[in-house]
Amino acid sequence: MGVDFFPCDSCSETVCDAGSYFPCDCGAVYHSECGERQEDEKTGDTSCQICRGEVVTEEQLLKYLIKESGITRAAHEKAIMASRKKK
Ligand SMILES: [Zn+2]
Ligand SMILES: [Zn+2]
Repeated sequence: MGVDFFPCDSCSETVCDAGSYFPCDCGAVYHSECGERQEDEKTGDTSCQICRGEVVTEEQLLKYLIKESGITRAAHEKAIMASRKKK
């Protein structure tokens, strides 16, 4: 059992799971301070900017781009492998 590090979905700085952090139901993770700022001041909802659809995660962006490009995942993987070999 080690210590995990992940990027904060608000400020992109590293979050350490040994410290205090704010995991949202949607899977987003924030520093405690960043997470508190995600809460809706009026309703007190603990939904974050990602839950509310105010921001798009890298993952969502990638999925969208892959879908829009019309290229299959397998084709993308092949292209990535090929570009790696060149180096
Ligand atoms: Zn943060
Ligand atoms: Zn969320």
